[in-house]
Amino acid sequence: MCICINCHYVDACSTYHAVEHQHQQPHLTDSPTFEAKEPTINVNIRQAGEIIEMEWDVVGCLSFTQEIGRWANLRPGELLPT
Ligand code: SF4
Repeated sequence: MCICINCHYVDACSTYHAVEHQHQQPHLTDSPTFEAKEPTINVNIRQAGEIIEMEWDVVGCLSFTQEIGRWANLRPGELLPT
């Protein structure tokens, strides 16, 4: 799971914006203004028959600033992104 969902910058961050794009999720912002320092992205590739899925997760980031439930508070009632 992406650490960004509990990060203060999730709705302003260009890296998380790119992760949303890869997951074809709606963006929290259309114009990110925050540049994360040294984010580390883990890419998992799964194949099920002819379908190839890619999952992108930020697993480390020097800019990470913990705010538990930040994403959930911005999108009340929605399932957390995987
Ligand atoms: S952890 Fe880093 S990449 Fe993720 S939202 Fe926060 S600043 Fe952006």
